[in-house]
Amino acid sequence: MLLGAQCFRVSPGFRSLDVYNDYVTASTSVRQVSSADFPTRWGQFRIYGFEGVFRDGEEIRREEAVALVMGDVTSSAPLVRVHSQCLTGDVFGSLRCDCRQQLEMALSMIAERGSGVLIYEQQEGRGIGLMAKLQAYELQDAGLDTVEANERLGFKADHRAFTLPAEMLKALGIHQVRLLSNNPDKVAALEQAGVEVIERMPCEVAPNPHTEDYLKTKKEKLGHLFTSR
Ligand SMILES: [Zn+2]
Repeated sequence: MLLGAQCFRVSPGFRSLDVYNDYVTASTSVRQVSSADFPTRWGQFRIYGFEGVFRDGEEIRREEAVALVMGDVTSSAPLVRVHSQCLTGDVFGSLRCDCRQQLEMALSMIAERGSGVLIYEQQEGRGIGLMAKLQAYELQDAGLDTVEANERLGFKADHRAFTLPAEMLKALGIHQVRLLSNNPDKVAALEQAGVEVIERMPCEVAPNPHTEDYLKTKKEKLGHLFTSR
């Protein structure tokens, strides 16, 4: 699929009821800035760069994300994973979380099927940023769980917005998805942003001794669904 640089606008009256998106109330624009061939060890993708500009009252917030697209994703609802950047997990292989394993699982499921989309958002630590995430780790070492630590630092438990991934999918011509996620709030957030989730497929990885507590908190406090726990 070829997409030129375009600007996609959400009407100024756009309002989301979801907690993730409740601060994106005014105008939003999402622009595709690049598109290139992208061979990986999972197979051949196309990589798209997107930039979103969100106005929140007086504040203008910019977000960037990439989409890895494999195969035909428009003739039927594709497999889609929306992944938030996790430097410590994705790059360093941290065992404090399950991010890298989920990322690799998503890429291999897309490769197995021969088509799908991985959206990688630059939102470190559920949107709180890398330094704050490291401070949260320090609080967790002192006994707080991941939600308590974020709240102690003055952040919501989950600070992400899903407007950008939803607008990126629409820009790629995708209005229905099979979402790879354990998080029912992500399903709701995408649907409120105008992308229909016709199926939620679990993205579960085996826990290790370091992630047991983290996954337990995700389940109990953030409502994530796990079949195996
Ligand atoms: Zn992580």
